[in-house]
Amino acid sequence: DNPRRTPLIAGNWKMNLDHLQAIAFVQKLAWNLKDAKHDFSAVEVAVFPPFTDLRSVQTLVSADKLPLAYGAQDLSAQDSGAYTGEISGGFLSQLECQYVLIGHSERRTLHGEDDEQVAAKVKAALKHNLVPIICVGETAADLELHGPSAVPVAQLKAALSGVSNAADIVVAYEPVWAIGSGQAATPEQAEQVAAQLRNVLKDTLGEDVAARTRILYGGSVKGVNIAGYMREPNLDGALVGGASLDIDEFSSIVRFQK
Ligand code: PGA
Repeated sequence: DNPRRTPLIAGNWKMNLDHLQAIAFVQKLAWNLKDAKHDFSAVEVAVFPPFTDLRSVQTLVSADKLPLAYGAQDLSAQDSGAYTGEISGGFLSQLECQYVLIGHSERRTLHGEDDEQVAAKVKAALKHNLVPIICVGETAADLELHGPSAVPVAQLKAALSGVSNAADIVVAYEPVWAIGSGQAATPEQAEQVAAQLRNVLKDTLGEDVAARTRILYGGSVKGVNIAGYMREPNLDGALVGGASLDIDEFSSIVRFQK
């Protein structure tokens, strides 16, 4: 709805597809979208493969000049050093990643990432010229206790604490109860929270950045429900998990009709 915000459809592969499968998948996806005459300047498409796939995806995207963006599913808050198993933002920019997911609910719940770590990772991403996709969302228990927006609003405020200059960030509102459950939030529910999140952006980063920042909805997005979200004034795309692993389904999300 806002001409300054190009919709973004982001596919979070999670721990699926090894590097050989990733090559085949990205080739088919690009072919599929090209075949359908997808206008990449109207809707941006990004994939988030596992770390071990990124070099292969980079090679393919740059060799074939595919109009696809890609990024990692996480990064370290540190630049380098004795951090066994971690991946630095610098390594990701070397692989020409444009984006990085930060604070996905699976990182928060399965790896105990707290708001402070999320904030440090946001700073690390910006330092390495990666666009952070800051994931926020309430659990079913949060929803019952505090209503829909309190937890995501608090998470976003915390993620942005100490960040003053963030011209390019993306926020993904993903209610935890909607992720992988088949129980998507309604467009109205998602819009209500997205409007609150945009207010947080206004208060912390100013009107201009708030008006420019894309807010995605995530949680059981499919080809059949994407259009409803895209009609809402504060929603600018989707973060797609399960459905991003099916080329036809993901393509149908990318080709949403308002
Ligand atoms: P889902 O996952 O689309 O499978 O619900 C979304 C996400 O975890 O980003």
